[in-house]
Amino acid sequence: MFAFYELQKRLSVYLSEKQILPVARAYLYAADAHETQFRSSGEPYVTHTLAAASILADMHLDPDTIMAALLHDVLEDTHTSFDDIAKHFGEKVARLVEGVTKLTQIHFESRKEAQAENFRKMMLAMTGDVRVILIKMADRLHNMSTIASLPAKKRYRIALETMEIYAPIAHRLGMNHFKLALEDYSFQAMYPWRYAILKEYVARARRHRKHLFEKVENTLMKTLGKLGVSPSQIIGREKSLTSVYRKMRDRGVPFSEIMDLFGFRILTHSTAECYQLLGVVHSIFKPIPGKFKDYIAIPKANGYQSLHTLLFGPYGVPLEIQLRTKDMDHIAENGIAAHWQYKIQNDAAALPSETNAWLQKVADLEGQTNDALEFIQNMKMDLFPDEIYVFTPKGEILSLPRGATALDYAYAVHTEVGDHCKEVIINRRPVPLSYPLLNGQSVEVITDPTLYPNATWLHFVVTGKAKSSIRHALKEGQERALLPEGQAPLSQLKKKKPLIVIHSSKGMNLDFAHCCQPIPGDPVKGFYNAAHKIIVHVSHCEHLEDLIAQKNHGKWVEVEWSQQVTGFFPVRLTVIGQNNVGVIAGITREIAELGGNIREFNLHETLEIEVHIDLIVEVQDRAHLAKMIRSIRRLTYVKRVWRGLNDK
Ligand code: MN
Repeated sequence: MFAFYELQKRLSVYLSEKQILPVARAYLYAADAHETQFRSSGEPYVTHTLAAASILADMHLDPDTIMAALLHDVLEDTHTSFDDIAKHFGEKVARLVEGVTKLTQIHFESRKEAQAENFRKMMLAMTGDVRVILIKMADRLHNMSTIASLPAKKRYRIALETMEIYAPIAHRLGMNHFKLALEDYSFQAMYPWRYAILKEYVARARRHRKHLFEKVENTLMKTLGKLGVSPSQIIGREKSLTSVYRKMRDRGVPFSEIMDLFGFRILTHSTAECYQLLGVVHSIFKPIPGKFKDYIAIPKANGYQSLHTLLFGPYGVPLEIQLRTKDMDHIAENGIAAHWQYKIQNDAAALPSETNAWLQKVADLEGQTNDALEFIQNMKMDLFPDEIYVFTPKGEILSLPRGATALDYAYAVHTEVGDHCKEVIINRRPVPLSYPLLNGQSVEVITDPTLYPNATWLHFVVTGKAKSSIRHALKEGQERALLPEGQAPLSQLKKKKPLIVIHSSKGMNLDFAHCCQPIPGDPVKGFYNAAHKIIVHVSHCEHLEDLIAQKNHGKWVEVEWSQQVTGFFPVRLTVIGQNNVGVIAGITREIAELGGNIREFNLHETLEIEVHIDLIVEVQDRAHLAKMIRSIRRLTYVKRVWRGLNDK
């Protein structure tokens, strides 16, 4: 539990006793006002506002901001009025509290329109006084740190809102420290299982490479020492779990291919020293060409400044080194807040010009548009500068990473569209498939089913989806080419209805349907899709009946399982259990003990007393699955468990 003396200790670092006095009064006032309230964790409510104020005190914010943080929930939750606060603590503090209260009353629910409208209100509050958003950020950060005590359903909603709204704003305002912490808490709350696994992976990798990094650090220190330069600090750094997860998801790469997990940050005394040390670093480890970035000469939009270089480290392990001055580092971590930090001599701290310009733009946008959805689209372009937005012929918006090409777009629409892409039309003109798209373009793809991908495509696509689809199609093309001369490819043999035997979960010209997820032992049927690939369905799959009824494909093939099928097959399980921490641990343990893999694990649609768990496990066959279901069912806090999604 957080007590006032801890806040006082932090304040006394940069404020005088006289300045702390009104803060203490604000604390007593808040404690009185919230006297009858408690947090879900059982603690008195005021511990929350104390914690929020302490986060801001660590950032050395001015006394008004600290007082407003202590009082930030009194308007919302107690009988206190604006005038009460103004009378006791001044109009400025009352205005800040009022601003935070307005933000707190907004909820970013899933309904799109409401969300856009709320987002707009938030932006407006920010252009009024940025300190309002700093208090709101501290409020959210503390709420996220205690999110475990909330019911699961609420937990997911708040985490999602934090991930989609608050973390990007923190990023845009250059508050890296907030951004990372908010993302980390959200990721953990939304995907506890993936979070735990990744955390373990990173810890393992850290132990594994400990020796390597000690070696690098020693080499750096020794060489720098010999040259008589002493950087102010060398810090080992680690990529955040959220960014590791994003990279794996967006690029479709396994953990083992994440190369920039660890690196070093060198803090210097001056800008000149950054470049000087860069030269030294490059003389020790060879730089990887094309990977050097000078954000000192050209700062990022949020004001971030640093030199980044990627090196061939010992044993060829890539190694990222960042060089920046202590001041730059301070701004990189605190962003806009750094400019609000309390300076005894200089009260009127100026906002960095980029941030100021951005806030001005928000205010201008507000004047131009009445449509909240349009507003949020415009804002998104600013909040996510690494993404571009293009329009489909139907006017839908698709987001792609910056640098994505016309062909990436085709694959983003659909794998089939990408595979048979013939031509891309932008503004009624054909463009090369390698054309890099720009924000706001309308893009149309012309396909030709007789065309297939060629290997040169891999040179210019940037998205993981396009890359993996092209590789996949190329591999299939080779298999087609390997057929003996005169023998028609599988797709033309369909009239004979040959019997195809499935030997393994991988390879062959077949896929397993996602709708019914057949596993060995299930009665199955094969069906040719438009790409001449056999899709294996469970015989009684509902989706399959639709396909037969449509008659537009209707190309059948008899398939059956081999006596010994190798590999693992994904299958969906639904579990209803009591809302109890042990339920997750129990289920995952049972599955692991039976040698099954968990591919996905989601808790959702949860009542306070009940959890609904939706997971995809990989099993060998029906017998394996049956065993697994039996052992999960035996757990005391599990009420029901079944295969598939639909309730029964
Ligand atoms: Mn609060």
